[in-house]
Amino acid sequence: MDEPRTVTVDGVALTVVVERKRVKNLNARLRGATIRLSVPYYASRAEIDAAVPELARTLLRRARARQVNREEDALALARRVAARFPQPPEVGAVAFVTTQRSRWGSYSPASRTIRLNAVLRQMPRWVLEAVVAHELAHAFHLAHSAAFHALLRRVCPDTERADAFLAGVSWLAQGWDRLDPVERALLHRDGGDDG
Ligand SMILES: [Zn+2]
Repeated sequence: MDEPRTVTVDGVALTVVVERKRVKNLNARLRGATIRLSVPYYASRAEIDAAVPELARTLLRRARARQVNREEDALALARRVAARFPQPPEVGAVAFVTTQRSRWGSYSPASRTIRLNAVLRQMPRWVLEAVVAHELAHAFHLAHSAAFHALLRRVCPDTERADAFLAGVSWLAQGWDRLDPVERALLHRDGGDDG
């Protein structure tokens, strides 16, 4: 492996890891802040260095576009959920955030913004819908009162199932390190049915 190098693109510093492989062309993948390049054995360092900035820029922009799309998807989803309320709350924006570790979401009627824990991105859509419904229901009832639950069940029949799903996710996330490696392996099966 060549020595890792760094490149700064659009103000973002990226580490570039170059791996020599039996490939015909340069291939690049972006993961977090690291770009992994597969390059042919015969490519010179100068050639690689010349190609890196443009490649990095393309990958970074593609990753950002994907992210924006997901927030736009989430906005459309949130508006569909809002429309089920007797008096639909206004939703102007949805933001995925990594700063609220203990919460799944929040809704601010003043800014008409729903903030969602970024972990929800990877979860099934109906779970995301239930979290959105829960947060929007708080625009009408602050506490988890009987009236709150009645409204929530009306706009989101899946709400109890989603709560159970999220409780399982939290349980696993908190207990993961305490699990025996054998038990972890049991949970970690690939391609199993999810019945
Ligand atoms: Zn709540």
